[in-house]
Amino acid sequence: MPDLQQLTTTLKEYFGYDSFRPLQSEIIASIFDGNDNLVIMPTGGGKSICYQLPALLLPGITLVISPLIALMKDQVDGLLANGISAAFVNSSQTTEEQQSIYQKLLDKEIKLLYIAPESLSFLDAIFAQIELSLIAIDEAHCISAWGHDFRPAYTQLGYLKNRFPKIPLIALTATADKATRQDICDQLNIPNATHHIASFDRKNLSLEVRPGNKRIEQIFSFLSDKTNDSGIIYCLSRKTTETLAEKLREQGFTAEAYHAGINHDQRAKVQEDFINDTIQIVCATIAFGMGIDKSNVRWVIHYNLPKNIEGYYQEIGRAGRDGLPSSTLLFHSYADIVQLQKFADMSGNKEVQLAKLDRMKQYADSLSCRRKILLSYFGELIEQDCGNCDVCKNPPEFIDGTIIAQKALSCVTRIKEEEPIGTVIDVLRGAQNTTVYDKGYQNLKTYGIANDIAWRDWQQYIIQLTNQGYLEIAFHQNNKLKLTPIAKKVLFEGEKVSLAHLKAFEKTKESIIKPIDKGTAPDLFERLRQLRLQLAKEEGIPAYQIFND
Ligand code: ADP
Ligand code: MG
Repeated sequence: MPDLQQLTTTLKEYFGYDSFRPLQSEIIASIFDGNDNLVIMPTGGGKSICYQLPALLLPGITLVISPLIALMKDQVDGLLANGISAAFVNSSQTTEEQQSIYQKLLDKEIKLLYIAPESLSFLDAIFAQIELSLIAIDEAHCISAWGHDFRPAYTQLGYLKNRFPKIPLIALTATADKATRQDICDQLNIPNATHHIASFDRKNLSLEVRPGNKRIEQIFSFLSDKTNDSGIIYCLSRKTTETLAEKLREQGFTAEAYHAGINHDQRAKVQEDFINDTIQIVCATIAFGMGIDKSNVRWVIHYNLPKNIEGYYQEIGRAGRDGLPSSTLLFHSYADIVQLQKFADMSGNKEVQLAKLDRMKQYADSLSCRRKILLSYFGELIEQDCGNCDVCKNPPEFIDGTIIAQKALSCVTRIKEEEPIGTVIDVLRGAQNTTVYDKGYQNLKTYGIANDIAWRDWQQYIIQLTNQGYLEIAFHQNNKLKLTPIAKKVLFEGEKVSLAHLKAFEKTKESIIKPIDKGTAPDLFERLRQLRLQLAKEEGIPAYQIFND
């Protein structure tokens, strides 16, 4: 196995870099140890080297599964330019081209073979005759329906580990929350993979969320001190990209629209002009940005709410690649949420998409450090508030929320982490509905311990607790609330919790009228329950409608 010195020499020789970026050498060493590996590293972090460099030093072929035909060619061209023998196979090629690659593989002339998952059968005939040394699965989140970019063709990749149990496999992705990560390992059959998780913290990006009214005016004022700074405005619809670009041009900015409906040449031109600083602003749909290497993007605006945190993170991540301070601004509007919910409703995996949208909304609604939320979504906890988001810069009033937190966390414990937010609140508030009764939750110690807090306030508090990392929403399990390891600090070790005071939410009537309490008036409570059930029966309506207080 090569030592760090040899690895560094190879890095310099073939890629021209003097040293490794964080995690790269650990990952490479782990491959040489024969481990399977899962790599989570933000875009631009340098994932490719993690398999390209071992490929040079290993005896056989490294197979790279990659979903994007367009990027495959760029990657291979880049490698060839560095004197590394690489090739790709995908459906865009002629039979002759593929035949010549066959021959080169058999002649051991190729170190790295990029292949689209749809084209894997291409190798069936020669697998027995070639020596494989490493299998790399790039953009590995595509295998998971919990991910944000599911590709059905990826799901067949699970067979690779069964077929080549001794060949180390490395799965790489920039965006995978915890559930997706687990799913990737399950589906690829790499339960013992070593996990390498790089930091997602981009400290130079400021984070800001504003209400989405009068967006155009807000954008003009945002841009007033950015006359020459490059930026991207992400919009939900193609139409908006065009009207917005038009309005910006009217104000004297150089701005162009970019979306998948614009012809290829024009898109390429916009991209090039942006990279060369000929145009300052691109108003784009999410189609823009993949594979664009521009280091001096100074700001990113989201004109509409993105549909999930992965997308949001990736898009703001296009700002400030050079490490210099850069601004991001997200507009948050209810109309966007309704629109996105409709899209989610129509999609194949509705539940997952809705849950992800919910998480996005919680981020936008947050009253605590936004970076903490963003990072906790990717499984990273930071101790201190960031100081570089709008909430940190203009903090809400905080109260000692320890008791509120203890009540919520112990309620989640008592219901065995089996319920979503709504039911947890129902139990805390002692609601008299069928979900509660069917499961016997009215007998729990935490039942009705906090009916002095209004439903909507509870919802906000629980979101804050989630955002602070004490609770987790298992969106692949019906959004059940789960405790995180740090929850026990609050429950058993006296850790104090601050919660933002909910000035914005007026107490509703429900919090003033106390429900009949089972503990103090059990007979009355039971009679009322029976009456309600009877009424439901007579009226022929589902009981839960009556119990829904
Ligand atoms: P990812 O796949 O994680 O998005 P890439 O592998 O495409 O990232 O790398 C992003 C950029 O960083 C590329 O331009 C790459 O050449 C560069 N890079 C990778 N490793 C290093 C390194 N050790 N030193 C300097 N630059 C590096
Ligand atoms: Mg990559």
